[in-house]
Parts: sequence; structure tokens; C-alpha cells
Amino acid sequence: MNPSLRREYLAALRLETWAVRGTAASASPQRVAAPADSPADMARQPVAAPQAAVPNAGVARDVSAGREAGLDWPELQARVAGCTRCTLCNTRTQTVFGVGNRQAQWLIVGEAPGAEEDRRGEPFVGRAGQLLNSMLRAIGLTREQVYIANVLKCRPPGNRDPTAGEAAECLPYLEQQIALLKPKVLLAVGRIAAQNLLHTDLTLGRLRQQVHRFGLSQVPLVATYHPAYLLRTPADKRKAWEDLKFAREVCARV
Ligand code: SF4
Repeated sequence: MNPSLRREYLAALRLETWAVRGTAASASPQRVAAPADSPADMARQPVAAPQAAVPNAGVARDVSAGREAGLDWPELQARVAGCTRCTLCNTRTQTVFGVGNRQAQWLIVGEAPGAEEDRRGEPFVGRAGQLLNSMLRAIGLTREQVYIANVLKCRPPGNRDPTAGEAAECLPYLEQQIALLKPKVLLAVGRIAAQNLLHTDLTLGRLRQQVHRFGLSQVPLVATYHPAYLLRTPADKRKAWEDLKFAREVCARV
């Protein structure tokens, strides 16, 4: 990558330099290898190519069974807007369907709307949304080039974690969004999103830096940190940067 462009990307992520721990700053960004058990181990991992699809923890069962199959975008959006399949319909201000480019190669999926998203009807707004935009810019993407959605379309009260039942009721909507979108890569942001999409309780540290597959479409799925977590834990922005580069390589190989 052009060095000045790279500096611009790193600045967008508020990372001044990038280097494998214990070495001088590298002339070009490198990727880390398959997951390690501790943050320190991760930082020391050598460069490796994207892993093959993980056949066990990473393969999601098909929860939708085509429940929304055949719906086009307006029909699907209308069905979500009127959905009462779980009790979150009683407490939401509005559903948060998803936004973005319907020809996007990248689908970004978080866990559920927060208070601001519930008010505005759009996923990833506020400070976390701004950081997500910066993360996307860091790999040469704009928010307008990707599609952004959540596992749940309604806000859980008090921003609690989604229940398994709520996720099971809502995931068919995301499955149909994926069927319509046909993305090259699905970026699951945050532990909750990754665990719900992959039906696993493995930690994010175990799930990141691997290619998983999601649903009937078997779209490649890469897991990384949620921007809200990164705002609280900026030291992990470096690992998020590695994940984004990893996802970019996965996307380029599809
Ligand atoms: S969270 Fe999903 S399943 Fe539950 S009411 Fe909202 S749209 Fe329907």
C-alpha cells in the first residue's frame, strides 16, 4: 500500500504506527496468524495466510429455513417494521432494519440497536458508529459502500444481551437480507454478534482471525471487536485493524 495512504488509514483508526511487538515499525502492515489464547500471544503471532473455513465452531446452523425466502427488500422491510415475534416489539421505539448499499460486498453485523439507534432507526450511530466509519475508512471503505445491520432489529431494554429466543426469532430476517445482498464477506462485530451468528460460546479471542461460514449461503464470516468495546479498550484497536485487513483479504479471495 502507498505509505501516505497507509498513514492516513492508521490515523483514521488512531494508530500512529503498526508493528509486530518487539520489532521496529514495519514498512507495510502485516497480518497476524490464527488465534492465540492471550492478547500478548496474539501480538507475537507470525504472519499467516487466511485460514480455511473452520468446520466446527464456525459453521452456523440454518435458523431461518427460508422463513422469509422470496421477500424482496421492501417486503422484508415492511415485515420487520410490523414484527411482533418477540416481546421486544413492546419496548422498541422503532425497528432498526439496516442501512447501506444493497450491492455491497461487505455486510457488517452487530448485536442489536442501542438507545440512539432505537431513536434514529439506524444501526451504528453515535460514537461507536463514528469509530466503525473510521475502521472502514482504514481499509479503504466508506459507510456508503457497505451494508450495516444487527442480529436483532429491536433494542433490548437497558441494552441487555439478546436472549437465545430473541435471536432465533430475528435471525431469519438477517438470513433474507443476506440472500438479497449476496455479500462477499460478513464482518461480525462484537462477541455477542459473533456468538449468535455462529451458535457458539467461544470467546471472541478464539473466533477472530479465522474464516467461518454463515447459514445456507455459507458466506465467509470474520469476527472482530465491537467499536463500543474499542472505545472502552483502545489498546485492542490494533487487533481490530488486523481483523479488518484479514477480512479484506478474505473478501479479495472470494
Ligand atoms: S427483535 Fe426481531 S423478532 Fe423480535 S420483535 Fe423485533 S424484529 Fe421481531
